[in-house]
Order: sequence, then structure tokens, then C-alpha cells
Amino acid sequence: MHFLITGGAGFIGSHLAEHLLTEGHQVTVIDDLSTGRWENIAHLRGHPRFRFAIDTILNEIVLDRLASECDAIFHLAAAVGVDLIVRRPTYTIETNVAGTEAVLRVAARYRVPVLITSTSEVYGKGARVPFSEDDDVVLGPTCRSRWSYAASKMVDEFLGLAYHRERGLPVVIARLFNTVGPRQTGRYGMVVPRFVGQALRGEPITVYGDGQQSRCFCDVADVVRALAGLMGHPEAAGRVFNVGSTDEVTIEELARRVKRITESRSPIVYVPYDEAYAPGFEDMRRRVPDISRIQALLGWQPTIPLDETLVRVRDWLARESEGYESFSSFPSWVKRTQGVCHWPGLRRA
Ligand code: UDP
Repeated sequence: MHFLITGGAGFIGSHLAEHLLTEGHQVTVIDDLSTGRWENIAHLRGHPRFRFAIDTILNEIVLDRLASECDAIFHLAAAVGVDLIVRRPTYTIETNVAGTEAVLRVAARYRVPVLITSTSEVYGKGARVPFSEDDDVVLGPTCRSRWSYAASKMVDEFLGLAYHRERGLPVVIARLFNTVGPRQTGRYGMVVPRFVGQALRGEPITVYGDGQQSRCFCDVADVVRALAGLMGHPEAAGRVFNVGSTDEVTIEELARRVKRITESRSPIVYVPYDEAYAPGFEDMRRRVPDISRIQALLGWQPTIPLDETLVRVRDWLARESEGYESFSSFPSWVKRTQGVCHWPGLRRA
């Protein structure tokens, strides 16, 4: 099949592109490189079944043509990351809502199935453990820009389901919980690459609040299997599915694990939310998915334990670094990866 991935140069999109190519499919990526990176897909350039367009999905002439040529669309292009959302709410809302409108419009024109990636943020402040797809949603007030992300993704979900109901377009919604792995950048606030980067550089590991808030982190390799499975299943259309791990860890414990895995001497420091984000920032204490729906449909469940993902992130960030000199310590695992990693500073030494 020929798949179009919007946001295909992003963290999850680039892994999905690789997965689909490995499965023998043809892949076209459209990405404006706003939060995605060319480096994420540069290695795919020249692959006979891979094409890309560096453009925004709001360019409907380009999007129309790409949709007319594909068999299905994975819609991943979105403004993501709590930090970005708090800093640039206008951009977040406009990108997420207008982008999804454009994708659904062209998909309906050519009757192309769409998978929309949504987020566990839509569960808002709900205190239920675990979150099920049909739970009620409680968001904070509109004066707190954090909630603009959840609200914009909810509009995306409503719109996708409306296209399915009213126009018979096959649309499936995947609500992604915290997804982690190589290529995720800490620039927009994501905790795992931030902690691993801080640990490698010997900087303080910044735990926000008291560190007792918890998350379930799912490896991106498991997530892309779920997305491909949902797209390929005839009974998925018109439905919402949680995709995530059920293995819960506190942020404080995450910081400790990162320290251990990187053999870092970084201190763990506690930063009040007001300083970390904006005054009045509201964080979620727990966020655990109920994954029985996707399990029942596909038999899918996460397979990669968090520690293994942390090692993958560590090795990737190490390769990404400007040079060995930028790290404060010379942990033993570095020696083990010599000759395997491309690490310019180390080679110079
Ligand atoms: N967090 C932290 N230090 C950081 C970045 C994030 O303690 O440097 C916390 C954040 O407050 C949240 C958790 O880690 O409680 C997960 O944050 P992330 O932004 O990765 O995901 P989300 O908040 O969307 O679950």
C-alpha cells in the first residue's frame, strides 16, 4: 500500500515511516520541519519506496495531490509538547485544528482512510485510573493555556468522528499516552530526553514539583506497531483507541533510573511548577491508559520495558551530541559503544 504520513519527519512519524517501509509499503511524508527534523528521515532519502515533501499541511494544493496518490493517511502533524503549548498557544490551536480540517477535507475528496493521532491530554484533569476511551473529560479553564492543546485535539477527534458518521469516511483515532524513544527531543519539554540529556551533560536533573506525579512511558517501536495495526483493521474505523504502556513510574523514580543507566553524577533537583512552566500551571498526578480495547481488537500490547528504552535514548543522544568533550564524565558504557556509535569527539581523541 501507499501511505501518506503528515508530520513524517517528527519523532513518531519517522519511526512509522521506517516501520511501513520495512513491511514493504510505499511511504510519502509531508512535514514543514517546524518541530520535525530533516535528520530524522535523511537516511531514507534515495529509498525506492520513499518520497517526501517539505511543506505545511495547510498548503492544500500540495496536500490534495498527495492525498489523491495514496491509499491511506496517517495524520501525525501537530504542535506538540507542553512547553511549546504554554509558550505558543495561538500557533498550537491554529496548527492542530486547521491542519486536521485540511487533512480530512482532502481525504474525503478521494475517500482515503485516515488515522488521527490524538493524545492522552484529552483526559484532562480526570482522576480515574486507568483512563478508558469513553470516560468523561474534565479540562481546566480557558485562561490556562495548557488546556488549549487538549481542547484542540478534542476538536480534531470530534471532526474525525463526524466525517466517519456523516460521510462514511474510515477514520480511526489513536490516543497516544507518553511515547518515548530515540529522536524525541527535549526542546519542547518532554521529560525523558530532557533527563537523559541532562544526565549525560552532568547537569542537574530537573524534577518538576515533588516528583511524585507518575506517567506510563511506551516505546515508540511498540506505538508504531499499534498505529499500523489500527490502520489495517476493518473494525477500527469510527472508534477511539488508547495506545500506551500500563507500567507506571513516578518522575522521581525516572530521574533515578536515568542516573543509573547513564552512570551520571548529576544531582536531582526539584523545580516548582511555577518556575518550570508558567504561574498557575496544572500538572496531572497520574495518567494510566486502559488498553483493553486495542488489546481485544489487535492483541496489541507493549513489549519493550522502560529501562531498555532509556538505553536506546541514551545511545541515540550520545551519538547526536556535538562531541564527547561536552560530557562531564566518561562513563563505562561509552567504551562499550566505541566503534558502534558515530561519536565525533570520541574519534578525535
Ligand atoms: N517533567 C519534569 N522535568 C522536566 C520535564 C518534565 O519533572 O524537565 C515532568 C512534567 O511536569 C510531567 C512529567 O515530567 O509531570 C511528564 O512530562 P512530559 O512533558 O514529558 O509529558 P506530559 O506532561 O505530557 O505527560
